Amino acid sequence: MQKRLQQKVARYTAPAQAREQGIYPYFRPISSGQDTEVYINGKRVLMFGSNSYLGLTNHPKIIEAAIAATQKYGTGCAGSRFLNGTLDIHEELERRLAAYVGKESAAIFSTGFQVNLGALSCLTGRNDYLILDEYDHASIIDGSRLSFSKVIKYAHNDMADLRKKLSQLPEDAVKLIVVDGIFSMEGDIVKLPEMVEIADEFGASIMLDDAHSFGVIGDKGAGTASHFGLTDKVDIISGTFSKSLASLGGFIAADNEVIEFLKHHARSLIFSASMTPASAASVMAALDIIESEPERIEKLWANTNYAMKILNDEGFDLGPTETPIIPIYIRDNMKTFNLTCGLQEQGVFVNPVVSPAVPPDSTLIRFSLMATHSFAQIDEALGKLIRLAKELGIQTMKEKV
Ligand code: PMP
Repeated sequence: MQKRLQQKVARYTAPAQAREQGIYPYFRPISSGQDTEVYINGKRVLMFGSNSYLGLTNHPKIIEAAIAATQKYGTGCAGSRFLNGTLDIHEELERRLAAYVGKESAAIFSTGFQVNLGALSCLTGRNDYLILDEYDHASIIDGSRLSFSKVIKYAHNDMADLRKKLSQLPEDAVKLIVVDGIFSMEGDIVKLPEMVEIADEFGASIMLDDAHSFGVIGDKGAGTASHFGLTDKVDIISGTFSKSLASLGGFIAADNEVIEFLKHHARSLIFSASMTPASAASVMAALDIIESEPERIEKLWANTNYAMKILNDEGFDLGPTETPIIPIYIRDNMKTFNLTCGLQEQGVFVNPVVSPAVPPDSTLIRFSLMATHSFAQIDEALGKLIRLAKELGIQTMKEKV
């Protein structure tokens, strides 16, 4: 390797230092299914860091569907959707998803990240405007960079700032607002009713990223637009299969013309292999379960409210969350890593979230609920978290006043 490149990578010693101090919280290898309890290094650990909000990743019917699809179609598609990689079940899934979220058509991609890269890089271009919430997901940011569009950011969920930013743009320019439906680290929901009014006033389109909303809010989990009864006012809805839908892949849904355009311009679709048969079949089986067992979403919300009450009663700073994503703001990197690793030792898995996923002063523990958690598991995890936070000198809001 070139010496200068070698020197550059060798200078990056932060992970090694953290490992030496016993506070390295990433790439923890799980040797079991992603359920409410997982096994790490042979030890049982309660999982409160998963995006499997409905707890479906080990559901026997979904596993059966994945096996059956693998037996029928094989393990891979050996090509992109554009050429030899389209299966009948890919198209069936697209029709089903479009109907589920209330749009004319849909296109599925191999990951949700690729949806945003592919769609944003071609929908708008030079001289057009992408208007983003400052806390939008990394895939939206990266997609906007690939698009050569002018990127305008407004303050997080601040509709007055969105209005101000839009009012400064040329009237006849192409303008697309792209926003998370539920914010992935903060857990709050986009203020869609106000956004729709503002977008109408300034002639902007809206694209919602429902990665964390699908299966969580809306009619039968249909997402943010459905939650607010504003499906017709949202132009484009995207999502992922890697969270509530227990699989891997992503989708985008909109009018026929938009999807037709994307299928012939989105480079991450055209130049990347299509979803595996097992992944596609798993999503369809997961949709069957979500539709026929509404009690799963109810239990997810019961768990969310239960955990939220305990943490609020203790006085933790949870920000404006209103969903199963509960950020516990620590605002100190070392304490966040110590709490994460200490909890892991005591058999509880949570995620530390530091810059650049959140602003440097907003370091947090992301505590996320699944429908399959029991109240007893929540009690055990939060009991340990509260005790350890006290031992580490993490002050709650109550203690700060
Ligand atoms: N959008 C948002 C808001 C996300 O949180 C994520 C994943 N964390 C993605 C897109 C990417 O989804 P995927 O895992 O399917 O690549």
